[in-house]
Amino acid sequence: MTFQELNIIPPILKALSKEGYTSPTPIQEQSIPGVLAGRDLLGCAQTGTGKTAAFSLPIIQLLSEQTSSVSTGRRIRSLILTPTRELALQIDENIKAYSQFTNIRCTAIVGGVSQKAQERALHQGADILIATPGRLLDLLNQKRVDLQFVKILVLDEADRMLDMGFIHDVKRIITKMPAKKQTLFFSATMPPEIDKMVKSLLVNPVKVEITPVSSTVDRIEQSVYLLEMGNKQNQLNLLLEDKSIVSALVFTRTKRGADRVTKDLAKINVSAQAIHGNKSQNDRQNALRNFKSGATRVLVATDIAARGIDIDELSHVINFNLPNIPETYVHRIGRTGRAGLSGTAISFCEVDELPFLKDIEKLIGKTIPEVKDHPYPMKRIPQSFKSGQPSKSSNSKPASSRPAGSRPASSNAAASTKSASARSASARSEQPKPKLQTKAKANPPRKPKSEWFKKESKASR
Ligand code: AMP
Repeated sequence: MTFQELNIIPPILKALSKEGYTSPTPIQEQSIPGVLAGRDLLGCAQTGTGKTAAFSLPIIQLLSEQTSSVSTGRRIRSLILTPTRELALQIDENIKAYSQFTNIRCTAIVGGVSQKAQERALHQGADILIATPGRLLDLLNQKRVDLQFVKILVLDEADRMLDMGFIHDVKRIITKMPAKKQTLFFSATMPPEIDKMVKSLLVNPVKVEITPVSSTVDRIEQSVYLLEMGNKQNQLNLLLEDKSIVSALVFTRTKRGADRVTKDLAKINVSAQAIHGNKSQNDRQNALRNFKSGATRVLVATDIAARGIDIDELSHVINFNLPNIPETYVHRIGRTGRAGLSGTAISFCEVDELPFLKDIEKLIGKTIPEVKDHPYPMKRIPQSFKSGQPSKSSNSKPASSRPAGSRPASSNAAASTKSASARSASARSEQPKPKLQTKAKANPPRKPKSEWFKKESKASR
């Protein structure tokens, strides 16, 4: 199936091709035709399935086919409600990318930031508004937003909005728009309150159910290193002595972090390039081309820059920093293990990132095995993280990592793994692991792709 076969219009096809999307994901395949035909949609799917494009591509298409009249100016014709600021901004960014060759304009209004810039954007006019419920309700009460012309409503992650206590705000917002409209409703679970809402809002919807995002990562071999502060670069250097890591996509939280890691890898003769928002389009494409061809072994990326990059059969993803949004972890590691192949995802975690690790494990529904036998173990693991208790601080920011930059004396990366639910020093039961070669080439030659995913070629296993 191609996007052309889904009858997507040329300006959107052009944008998709620019984003590197070659074919629709299952949720896109199943949702787009019904939404283009004007049907309501009930989607049971989580972030990571391609859900955003599944609803936003047909919305952009439907709205560009009925351009607003010049005399009335732009009016909000589609409203997308999401529970979190991060998700709203991510959707806004995606829609801007997908609609770049159309006349459609979108804007996001979210809480936690000054209202002024959002008022200006609303004043300039938008066809699509992406919003979190609280700020939207404030602006509606101040009569700065008019939802009378909304034709398509999207409720994204409705169950999360319920969990976060926004559902009454959502219901109030719905009363401010026309009763007759197309509604696209997404929820990963269907608690009774959500089920009631579905029944009252949707008319004969197309139903699409996609396996939860967590199960898509099951085939990826995951591990985590709990590291004492300031040793991530040392551990990365050590890992890359393993020749079986043919190509690695390394994720850092910041652009500066990406540059620093790249520079430090160059010092040990590992070929690496960075892609992030401060690099020109040319530089990014060049880095991507080199990585794909095998000319560089390591691509260091921030999440934003990595979005939409399509690399086949990537063997390793390394999280230099853990993301504070657990779904991002799933997106990152989903870049390996594609097309039914296995892959390896290795994460580095310093003490400040332990809450993120807990959130990730909660989302994926399992503990990530810990590699215990390495030279930089975390000296003091807080008691709350030894017993598998859920995190209470999912929104706290991690301290920036402080790579020491120097190479470790030991190059024995033999490792053992252990469940995170029993991360106490006293309860170690280490598995025998093959020793890695002590002298490895910094940039080993690439094996044929067919051999990348063979179990015996994995590092530290
Ligand atoms: P979402 O579930 O909407 O958050 O999407 C997950 C990730 O998949 C995002 O990074 C999207 O940019 C990417 N994505 C969505 N659709 C496609 C596609 N058809 N081809 C390649 N990447 C996609």
